[in-house]
Amino acid sequence: MVIVLQKGVTDEQIEEVSARLRQAGLGVHLSQGHYRTIIGAIGDEKKVREMGLEALSYVEKVLPITKPFKLVSREFQEEDSTFTVGDCTIGGRQLVVMAGPCAVESEEQLLEAAYGVKAAGAQILRGGAFKPRTSPYSFQGLEEKGLKLLARVREKTGLPVVTEVMDQHTVGLVAEYADILQVGARNMQNFYLLRELGRLDKPILLKRGMSATVEEWLMAAEYIVSGGNHKVILCERGIRTFETYTRNTLDLSAVPVLKHLTHLPVIVDPSHGTGNWRWVPAMSRAAVAAGADGVMVEVHPCPEKALCDGAQSLTVEKFAEMCRQLAAVAGVCGRMLPQVTA
Ligand code: PEP
Ligand code: MN
Repeated sequence: MVIVLQKGVTDEQIEEVSARLRQAGLGVHLSQGHYRTIIGAIGDEKKVREMGLEALSYVEKVLPITKPFKLVSREFQEEDSTFTVGDCTIGGRQLVVMAGPCAVESEEQLLEAAYGVKAAGAQILRGGAFKPRTSPYSFQGLEEKGLKLLARVREKTGLPVVTEVMDQHTVGLVAEYADILQVGARNMQNFYLLRELGRLDKPILLKRGMSATVEEWLMAAEYIVSGGNHKVILCERGIRTFETYTRNTLDLSAVPVLKHLTHLPVIVDPSHGTGNWRWVPAMSRAAVAAGADGVMVEVHPCPEKALCDGAQSLTVEKFAEMCRQLAAVAGVCGRMLPQVTA
């Protein structure tokens, strides 16, 4: 159940309701937005109904949440969630562009990619230090050394960094270096990892599992939010279908569906979604047109030499061209891209 409190409610009044809920053995989740304060009561709905909270003058309404996901639902919070990473607001009118190589390979490679994507308009640098590779014989990432390189390049370029965390044991290590922690498609339902991430106060980029339904994905987000970390970004990255011409099938219909169901920001990764750099600009434009809050794109200074995912990586020049196209699409959708200098 959600208890919607009236505008201007005092801290004492919030505590009064929270204490009554706790006394009845219910979990309490407080959400204080710009416009209203909402208390999520977690547990037996019947108990909440019987408390007659509507009788309190500062309680606007008491609503059941009909969906299995609660805290991430639009029923719980009507307005879009936004949060900041450095100077960048995620989920606001300005779109967020995250770009960089699939994997951190060296300082030179990362620096070149970072300066290139920054000049083209990216606000966040991506780069994997821990790589979840299908084959144990493929490049597995530079691990801690890669994290250190990300931190060094952030210092030089001013770009916050997003990087993947693969298990619950390395959450502390990755959180030391990363501004946003990414949960990869293969780990979307790693519930121990999700629980650990719920304890952090850093944004989590939660990729869609390759065969996950929207509901399963939102339940994974619910794990993180219910743990106390409300900064979750959903990232559509394609799902498995019978089609083999593309690496995955980018499910752009998930974007408006998610925008309807949840207040969390939604971004799209057309690189893993298609597996081929040729289709990345078109699918990025389509993502923005579908209502995404941003994109995450793989860019490599020299894709043919990439240790990972070169075939789907854009060159810096192609990425800059893509950003110019994105700015035009953003304009007609009532969104905007940051000032592009390249
Ligand atoms: C990645 O972003 O580098 C990655 C491995 O993506 P995914 O988890 O979507 O396959
Ligand atoms: Mn990749």
